[in-house]
Amino acid sequence: MADFIVVGGGIAGASAAFFLAERGEVILIERESACGYHTTGRSAALYTEAYGNAAIRALTVASRPFFERPPAGFADHPLLLPRGEMIVAPKGNDRAVEKALAEGTRFAPMMRELTATEALELCPALDRDWLGRALFNPGSMDMDVHAIHGGFLKGVRARGGTVLTDAEVLGLERRAGVWHVRTSAGNVAGPVVVNAAGAWADVVGRMAGARPIGLVPKRRTAFTIDPPSGMETARWPMVIDVNETLYFKPESGRLLVSPADETPMDPCDCQPDEMDIALAAARLETVTSLRVRRVAHKWAGLRSFVRDKTPVAGFAPDVEGFFWLAGQGGYGIMTSPAMGRVAAALATGREIPSDIAVTASELAPGRLS
Ligand SMILES: Cc1cc2nc3c(=O)[nH]c(=O)nc-3n(C[C@H](O)[C@H](O)[C@H](O)COP(=O)(O)OP(=O)(O)OC[C@H]3O[C@@H](n4cnc5c(N)ncnc54)[C@H](O)[C@@H]3O)c2cc1C
Repeated sequence: MADFIVVGGGIAGASAAFFLAERGEVILIERESACGYHTTGRSAALYTEAYGNAAIRALTVASRPFFERPPAGFADHPLLLPRGEMIVAPKGNDRAVEKALAEGTRFAPMMRELTATEALELCPALDRDWLGRALFNPGSMDMDVHAIHGGFLKGVRARGGTVLTDAEVLGLERRAGVWHVRTSAGNVAGPVVVNAAGAWADVVGRMAGARPIGLVPKRRTAFTIDPPSGMETARWPMVIDVNETLYFKPESGRLLVSPADETPMDPCDCQPDEMDIALAAARLETVTSLRVRRVAHKWAGLRSFVRDKTPVAGFAPDVEGFFWLAGQGGYGIMTSPAMGRVAAALATGREIPSDIAVTASELAPGRLS
């Protein structure tokens, strides 16, 4: 019998399991053969303190020290690498720019406005006639998602926990204060289940008899293109338009492009839609001198949100021993160290650590009923 059964081996489940393994025996159960197969393996890998609502920004800020100084043996190279983020706006978007600057500087104090010349120095492909204003946050970083996720999973095992892959949870039943979890690879039991099933969290919640949290998985598309030959792009910042309808960033010698789509879908192994790729290509060609001649690689993933876009972490008010850890939206990697600590604290009846400026009620599943 384990102390904690974590359902889902993406970044949410892996980081919670890592911190829970300090407190008791953990079994992490993942349906796929690779824990990063779904959303965690499909991200744009950007760490930015200038994105999401106030709770997200607080969780992101509180995660930075872990990324910068992970525990010994977690990873053998840096988890964050300098990237920078430039928010661009066409003319006539002053209100949106002022709002982005005011909200951005609250958590990313180094954010500042650039002149058009400075913006073009950072990304010479930008169309000068299109560009109205630009902001720059030098503190935004590339994350090594593979190393972060792998570090959490390795740490779970090093702390005596078990990671079961190819094990789909098929049923949950509570008897005499113990969950009996039926999986495609056998049965496990324990007093606490942590539901970190990503886009499937409401599906798993229903198996346990819990009231759904109203999770909406939303597809986001990304693809890579080759930059024009001779154009040096490796040091460009991530460029995102102020209304979040396009972003692009260097990615392993190529450029990653996304239309920043948010199409609601049922949980699934989602695939990119050609219309979204065409839309992103058209927007990229409006904002820059770049031309999309060939898509090198394309993918899509589900970013799952609840109503207020704040993640959910806490025991279900209606089902004993069932802990929700869901709704990481578009921020799950960069918030994972803080969210893992929050989940481990709340699941073991402790307070949220004082360096993480969110409250248990902001994250509680009960707020959604
Ligand atoms: C295109 C794109 C760009 C993004 N960019 C960023 C970014 O720059 N920065 C950032 O921080 N975040 C970003 N994100 C968001 C981030 O990837 C997610 O917030 C995060 O990966 C969610 O992690 P998760 O563990 O909740 O979900 P998942 O990684 O999907 O993990 C959930 C797991 O649960 C498993 N599961 C489900 N049901 C069962 C079951 N019945 N039994 C067993 N296992 C089950 C699934 O197989 C899955 O592996 C991006 C996302 C996308 C799609």
